[in-house]
Amino acid sequence: MNRRKVWGIEREVLEMISQASRQTHPYEFVATMRAEDGVIYELLLLPGSISSGSSATFPTFNLPIDLSIVGSVHSHPSYSNEPSEADLHLFSSYGNTHIIICMPYDMTSWRSYDRQGRPVDLQVL
Ligand SMILES: [Zn+2]
Repeated sequence: MNRRKVWGIEREVLEMISQASRQTHPYEFVATMRAEDGVIYELLLLPGSISSGSSATFPTFNLPIDLSIVGSVHSHPSYSNEPSEADLHLFSSYGNTHIIICMPYDMTSWRSYDRQGRPVDLQVL
């Protein structure tokens, strides 16, 4: 079986995502993610990103040209971590690995998707 280019995420990064999502609640938390050797190891906060109760706007035109950035992560202030239409649009326009975390923002309430919005497995390291 072929391993995806991005196949893992450090536990520490997931913990940061869950903590940041709790702090941002009821708004959405948005960030991009960096990976090295296929493992996501860092969040990169976007100073230009706007979050609202319903959707996060992702200013792709502000993104630095940085090939270590592999995708995005955002939170849903609800109990669904399914991508919305806007999320699918974002996924297809940028990066190949995207994470959505929903309430209660714990280590089991997140899911990862590819650029078509299909669920993918990420190994927690
Ligand atoms: Zn969303």
